[in-house]
Amino acid sequence: MTDISETDDNLNLTPDYRPLDLEKEIREFWEQNQIRVKLEQREKDCKGILGYVEGPPTLNGIPHIGHARGRVMKDIRYRWKTMQGYYVPFWAGWDCQGLPVELEVEKLLGVKNKRELVERVGQERFVEECKKVIMKYHREWVEADKRLGVFINQEKAYWTYRDEYIEREWRYLKRAWEQNLLEEGNYVVAYCPGCQTSLSSAEVGYEGSYKEVEDPSLYFKFKKTGSENEFFLVWTTMPFTIITDTMLAVRPEAIYAKVKVGGEIWIMARQRVEPVMQELALSKYEITEVGSGKSLEGAKYDYPLVDIIPKQAELENNHPLVHHVISEDFVDIDTATGVVHLSPGNGEDDFWVAQRRGVPIFAPFDDEVKFTKDAGLFNGVFARDADYPVVEELRNRNAFVEVKKTKHEYPTCWRSHHKLIWLARKEYFLRTDKINSKVLEAAGKIEYFFDEPKNRFVGFLKEGKPWCISRERIWGTPLPIWTCQSCKQKKAVGSKAELIENALDEIPENFELHKPWVDRITFRCLQCGGVMRREDYVLDTWHNSGASPYARFTDDQFGKFVPTDFLTEGIDQTRGWANSLLLEYVILTGKPESPYRAFLFQGLTQDARGRKMSKSLGNVVETNKLLEKNSADLCRFYMMRKCSPIDFMNFDMQELNRRSYQVLSTLYHLSRFFLENSVFDNFEPSQEALTLNKLEPPDRWLLSKLQSAITVFTEKLEKCEFNMALAVLEDFVIETLSRLYVPMIRKELWTDNPETRKRRMDIYAVLHFALKTVTLLFNPVTPYLSEALYQKVYRKLDPTLPTSINFDAWPEPDAASYNKIVEEEFDSLFKAASLVYAARQQGKLKRRWPLSTVIVVATEKIVCALKNVEAMFLELTNVKTIEYMPNIPSLPEEENWVSAIEGDLTIIISAKRDEKLLGEGIMRDLARRVQALRKELGYMPTDILDGVHIAELDGESCGLVSCYLPEMSELVRARQMNLHEKRSELPEADWHETELDGKKVYISIH
Ligand SMILES: [Zn+2]
Ligand SMILES: [Zn+2]
Repeated sequence: MTDISETDDNLNLTPDYRPLDLEKEIREFWEQNQIRVKLEQREKDCKGILGYVEGPPTLNGIPHIGHARGRVMKDIRYRWKTMQGYYVPFWAGWDCQGLPVELEVEKLLGVKNKRELVERVGQERFVEECKKVIMKYHREWVEADKRLGVFINQEKAYWTYRDEYIEREWRYLKRAWEQNLLEEGNYVVAYCPGCQTSLSSAEVGYEGSYKEVEDPSLYFKFKKTGSENEFFLVWTTMPFTIITDTMLAVRPEAIYAKVKVGGEIWIMARQRVEPVMQELALSKYEITEVGSGKSLEGAKYDYPLVDIIPKQAELENNHPLVHHVISEDFVDIDTATGVVHLSPGNGEDDFWVAQRRGVPIFAPFDDEVKFTKDAGLFNGVFARDADYPVVEELRNRNAFVEVKKTKHEYPTCWRSHHKLIWLARKEYFLRTDKINSKVLEAAGKIEYFFDEPKNRFVGFLKEGKPWCISRERIWGTPLPIWTCQSCKQKKAVGSKAELIENALDEIPENFELHKPWVDRITFRCLQCGGVMRREDYVLDTWHNSGASPYARFTDDQFGKFVPTDFLTEGIDQTRGWANSLLLEYVILTGKPESPYRAFLFQGLTQDARGRKMSKSLGNVVETNKLLEKNSADLCRFYMMRKCSPIDFMNFDMQELNRRSYQVLSTLYHLSRFFLENSVFDNFEPSQEALTLNKLEPPDRWLLSKLQSAITVFTEKLEKCEFNMALAVLEDFVIETLSRLYVPMIRKELWTDNPETRKRRMDIYAVLHFALKTVTLLFNPVTPYLSEALYQKVYRKLDPTLPTSINFDAWPEPDAASYNKIVEEEFDSLFKAASLVYAARQQGKLKRRWPLSTVIVVATEKIVCALKNVEAMFLELTNVKTIEYMPNIPSLPEEENWVSAIEGDLTIIISAKRDEKLLGEGIMRDLARRVQALRKELGYMPTDILDGVHIAELDGESCGLVSCYLPEMSELVRARQMNLHEKRSELPEADWHETELDGKKVYISIH
């Protein structure tokens, strides 16, 4: 007999499941044995490669539970596919540049804007500070991955700020440049006055960008030139745009009306007359004339602010359409007045209207979105601060009608939450609009797992706008375009070598591919001999991460790992990484192909009350803090089990330790139960082959259930239905194994009779196989618990197993073990048993009281099934005999019959108490308490006790139970059973108090 308490302490399973201790131990085990490193070496003999590229977290903050959820999904896929024999380059990556990092550093340095940053801090120091910040957060992320048990390769991580990465990203751009897909252009872009940079249209649509803001709601009027008293009535929420106004627009096919109000005639869409008059609280008005929008085209109006904005007079002289009415189909006649004013310097539609007609774009703004001297009186005023001054100026010039305040949804900067302003600026664009059909074709080939995020993604891609990739910032990948200062010739650079080769001056030693160093490099223009300087932009940070499938690998690796197999990121990445990856890959390859075959968009993670996690609410759950006191396995299991990966998840600390703990703890205790019993009987898995035809029905049932668990679990993982997959495992552990199978076989393990040893070996073999399989299936989700059980149970029994569970093979279903008939028989058995329990409850007969007979009324089919598993049925229901009947019989009236019915199955039992059986019931009651006590005092299930003493049981019970004492001693494995009237009869005994039907009873064992 092996005494496991004497063996290596590390191979022990403590009596209770203590995940935190266990995880610490396993983490050390993985490190000491270099398990992750060794997994990486399996590329040589893998059955296939599944490419992967990490969606790089931005190193500008501490990892929280939402990040953890996504990382666990990645790790599940990695561990699972690795066990299936694939090689996955599961290498980390970090997004290091761009606005998010810059703003974090600005905050640290106490800098308010970019000008202050450049003047007070300087670019060199700023770059150093940015690097410090990313390294600080990097430590947090690595720590979180380690605690979570995410097996990502940190040594092979890519960093988007490193020269080698930037160089490869430049190649993307050079390729775009050569295909005329990268262009300089003057377009209207969304601009953040806080960050002082333009944003891409993708960024404008980010989750949470739209906020309710208060703006003026202004009705104003422009006098029709040459008329006596006719005015165009216009509405806006951005009065500052009247400064850059150059045209009015109407809808050509719509009906417009002239409305007499007081002594004036106002021109507006016919259908808007009543609502607008009502809003303006004007009851006295009269429509005097109607006509089409087209008829208004060409009319001129008197721009009212011309005296304080002299540039407007100049514009009017230079182009015949300035301050004229044009007609355009996009004009909305369902809101406002149906007459819109156009500011091509401040609106996308307006811009294109002006472009088509050659009307000059008037955008007199500096980088802080303050008006320049071209805006006359408003020189130096921040755009949005000009709103009310403009209103006042209109009032002074009889151009004002009414101003109120309005609350509406308006896009704000996703980083700084400033109200965005649309501005015409010179920027660099990837002309993704030109390749939109290829992008959509590529998107159509991707597996998304769920329809809703797919529709959202494809819907966004259909917008197909040019991508503004230039940013007027510092810490970013420099735009590799140099322009000749004389002839404006441009040149795209694709590598550092190209830079060094062509530079006019020698490159200093500490040179890196960042501002300000890269700005100091100049070239000679081949066209005219002039000096070429770099265009002073860095790239949109989304371009950095979007380049990763190419930029993070060597050419060799790129060929091997891309297209990648499976990527997953948050749903917010429909406009972010998923988009930039796809666009850049289509540009790079020129083909309608995606760099990923499948993309799972995850729902966001919120707090327990369903609120967004935010610093201001103080409800952010930081991964490292959480895992100091909580088990990683539990968190992993809980997050995956709670809801579908695409659902918004409410992370609830209270829930974490309930059901999830129960599931993992049950697996732990089942494994421990198996280990203790099997070690006692010297079970050796290699000696005891699992032979199906020698097994009993419960074993065959269990193995059959196991086959569907393997099949369904694997299918659900494949579909990314992690919650449904884990429901399968949970059910198998809690219901199939713990609640149903173990109670059926437990009693057979209570004996050490050599005659029944073979049966016990069969049970161990079944338990070994089922539990080990389940442990393997659990590994991707709960890697710590699985590894611990693998080492402490399975490798302990069989040291020839691989060093780590991660090297073991993924379980495959075995068709021979699948047995539909046995499953049906057991379905009938459990259904019938539950009806017996229900009848007992009705008759107030405790389950531990044996019953002499149960009558089963059922169809031939059910009866047949039950007959095959009758022994099990009697054992489970604690009944002596069973009678089958086709119809409900007439029963003797003196007995108190109770029954339970479900469908075509009826169970009838007699509620009459039988003294003999009651005695047996009491005995079983007491036996259960002795069993519990044995366990509590640390006896092995198979240890034989010298004696059991029971004291202060009432006289009647003593009488009923006395003849069952020999049976009881066998049940509880004791040589002697003794009943005592008083505890004092055995004063030296260690008495333990318990209760039987509300009365106190005392037990002592030794
Ligand atoms: Zn901003
Ligand atoms: Zn030149």
